[in-house]
Amino acid sequence: MIKLYNTLTKKKELLKPIKKGEVKIYNCGPTVYNDPTIGNLRTYINVDILRRSLKYLNFKVIEAMNITDIEDKIIRDSIKLKVPYTEITKKYEKSFFEALTDLNIELPEYTPRATEEVPGMIKIIEKLLKDKYAYISDDGSVYFSISKFKNYGKLSGLDNREIINGARVAQDEYEKENAQDFAIWKAKKLGEPSWKAPFGEGRPGWHIECTAMSTKYLGKTIDIHSGGVDLIFPHHENEIAQSEAYTGKKFVNLWFHGEHLLINGKRMGKSMGNAYTLDNLKDKYTVEPLAFRMLCLSSHYRDKLNFTDKSILDAQNTLHNLREFILRMNLVENDGKLSEKVNKEIEKTEKLFEKYISDDLSISKALATIFGLIKFTNKQKFLTKNDATSVLHFMGVVDRVLGLRLDDIKVEKIPDEIHKMAVSREDARKNKDYKLADNFRSKIEKAGYMVEDTEDGPLIRKI
Ligand code: AMP
Ligand code: ZN
Repeated sequence: MIKLYNTLTKKKELLKPIKKGEVKIYNCGPTVYNDPTIGNLRTYINVDILRRSLKYLNFKVIEAMNITDIEDKIIRDSIKLKVPYTEITKKYEKSFFEALTDLNIELPEYTPRATEEVPGMIKIIEKLLKDKYAYISDDGSVYFSISKFKNYGKLSGLDNREIINGARVAQDEYEKENAQDFAIWKAKKLGEPSWKAPFGEGRPGWHIECTAMSTKYLGKTIDIHSGGVDLIFPHHENEIAQSEAYTGKKFVNLWFHGEHLLINGKRMGKSMGNAYTLDNLKDKYTVEPLAFRMLCLSSHYRDKLNFTDKSILDAQNTLHNLREFILRMNLVENDGKLSEKVNKEIEKTEKLFEKYISDDLSISKALATIFGLIKFTNKQKFLTKNDATSVLHFMGVVDRVLGLRLDDIKVEKIPDEIHKMAVSREDARKNKDYKLADNFRSKIEKAGYMVEDTEDGPLIRKI
């Protein structure tokens, strides 16, 4: 059982999958024309927490996510850089999937590319033309007529006054004030990639691809459709119109939207100079990608999350503390049974963890219960190996949702020379010779190890 907020009904609802025990999710994927920003990535982490939580609660998840590899911005950049558009899309698709791996985001079951699904889009457009939901404009492009679809505007809360009959918008992205007929097929232009179609050569508009891929991979009606809040209008509104006009069935039962990431309280954007990528984080703060995941876990997906110097460094620190705890638990060797106290605390934490994730993915509260257990365990004067193993086992279980790779933390022998360098670094720090200390740190890092300064002194681990 899980309750999730539905953007369409503006209520938290009990999820009732169409097929018992199986949840079909369609997630709007990236437009592959640049490295993903940490804003984009927050949304993919939100959806990852959704899918991991559903799996934790014993649902089977089938997810499809499109790769938008043909779109206005991609074509703009290929013309500007004088390179084939596929050169851009190949490079950034790779970069996107690398970022997913770095952040331990699970791959959806299907990740189709728009350019490989054009025949399906053409079939849908033909039917929309036949049923008069779409028309061909003077330049040979095909537009969806929003006045023909009576529910247009239900998701984003437009009323009829805002719909200008017959007015057209050619570009894929536009504001709510501009609710207009939108292009589902753009007539061939010189220098642009194009496909042959019965209604004229051209290329698909952005919105139509999601209708094609969602119906192909998941069926006419799906359980959950996800994306960032900026996609509610026009993209998702247009997806509903096209899909329901095409199939005659309800498109989506529950709309899941993640709020935006802000940078120092401001909107993120290329023009603002704050469109950070994971590489920027590494360079600027020397933090790992998983520190960003940890930061995302500290907030609710429907709240804005403010990225600051302090928030990312705090998140890295929290991750260090978590790993340090796991390492310490691994070192407990005392004989003895699992104590009643520890067992009870684990059971209590497990119940709370499940309660919170089932309540509209209250992940920060779920995480707080884990830190509660850590605090409790740390306070115990005596722990047996069985106590420690049970706590570790539980950490592994909850990590199926958190995705912090806690299982990868291995206790291994640190070579003597690394140990010696760490001691010398500590001595240099005590003598306030920070230059020398940094010197030792970089030597240690070059050898493939990392020193973390913890409350109990420096901790060395393999990078
Ligand atoms: P795009 O590649 O532009 O289609 O965006 C991919 C995903 O990132 C979409 O779900 C967007 O809603 C989401 N997104 C874009 N900017 C942000 C942001 N600042 N914070 C969170 N999500 C974002
Ligand atoms: Zn989409």
